[in-house]
Amino acid sequence: MKIFMTGKLVEESEAMISVFDHGLLYGDGVFEGIRVYNNRVFLLKEHIDRLFNSAKAIALEIPMNKEELVRAVADTCKANELENGYVRLIVTRGKGSLGLNPYLCKNPEVIIIAAEIQLYPKDFYENGLKIVTVGTVRNHPEAINPRIKSLNYLNNVLAKIEAINAGCMECIMLNHKGEVAEASGDNIFTIKDGKLYTPSIYSGALEGLTRNKVISLAESLGYSVNEVSMQRYDLYTADEVFLTGTAAEIISVVEIDKRAIGLGTPGEITKKLASSYSKYASSNGYSL
Ligand code: PMP
Repeated sequence: MKIFMTGKLVEESEAMISVFDHGLLYGDGVFEGIRVYNNRVFLLKEHIDRLFNSAKAIALEIPMNKEELVRAVADTCKANELENGYVRLIVTRGKGSLGLNPYLCKNPEVIIIAAEIQLYPKDFYENGLKIVTVGTVRNHPEAINPRIKSLNYLNNVLAKIEAINAGCMECIMLNHKGEVAEASGDNIFTIKDGKLYTPSIYSGALEGLTRNKVISLAESLGYSVNEVSMQRYDLYTADEVFLTGTAAEIISVVEIDKRAIGLGTPGEITKKLASSYSKYASSNGYSL
C-alpha cells in the first residue's frame, strides 16, 4: 500500500511518524474520513472545507492548499488503484517537544491512507441496530467543540466502550444539558408523523456531511427536516430512527434502551432515503 506523507507517496513500511508528534502525544490534529464510490471521491470538496475549518479552530496551519490536497487525495487513490473504498486524511500538529506548546511544532504532517472499508455486517442494514444511550456526556462545546473533527476522540471512545459493554455496536451520547447530541461516530435522525428531526449542531454534534446530504435529499423528496433540541423521550416515541455517517451511510435503529422504535423493524421512509442516498453517492463525486 502506498501512503501519502510529507508531500510524497511512500511505501507503507516507510510511512513513519515521530514519537514526538503531537498527534500521537496529545491527539493534537484533525482528520477526515472520505468514501470513494465507482472511481469518484464522494463529497471531496466538502471534506476538505471541513478539514480546513477544523484546523482553523485549533490554530493549525495545513501546509498545503485546498487544490494541492484534492490532487494528493486523488493521487493516493490512483496509486492504490482504489475504485471503491475509504480515504483517511489526517493532519497532525507535527513533531514537537514533550511539552504541550503547539507553537514548537514547526512542520504539521499531512497523511493520506486509501484503503478498504469495514462496514457494519449486512444483517444490521437489513434488520437495524439496537443501541443504548450512554453516561459519557458529549464534549462541552467550550471544551473541545464537537464540530471540530479532531484526532482527540477519547470522548467518543469512552462512549463506545459503554456501548460494547452493553452488548451494542453503537450508542447515543447526550450533551451537558441532557439533550441528544449524536452517536459515537454518526449523526442521528428521527422521523415522527412523516417529518424528519435531527439535533442541531449546537446540541453537540459534528456537522456530518452525510447528515447534510440526507437533509437535502429528504427535502427534495418533499419531507420537512427540522434541526431541533431533542430529548431521549423523542427517541423512544419516534416512528423511525436512523444514523448517518460516511462509513455507515444510512442505517436504521430499531431499539433504543430496550424500547422498540416504531414497529421494531427498519422504517419505510428510512429505506426510501437510504436508497436515494446510495443512488446519489454512486454517481456523484470527484472523478479519479
Ligand atoms: N459524528 C461523529 C462523532 C463522527 O465521527 C462522524 C464521522 N464518522 C459523524 C458524526 C458523521 O459525519 P460524516 O457524515 O461527515 O461522516
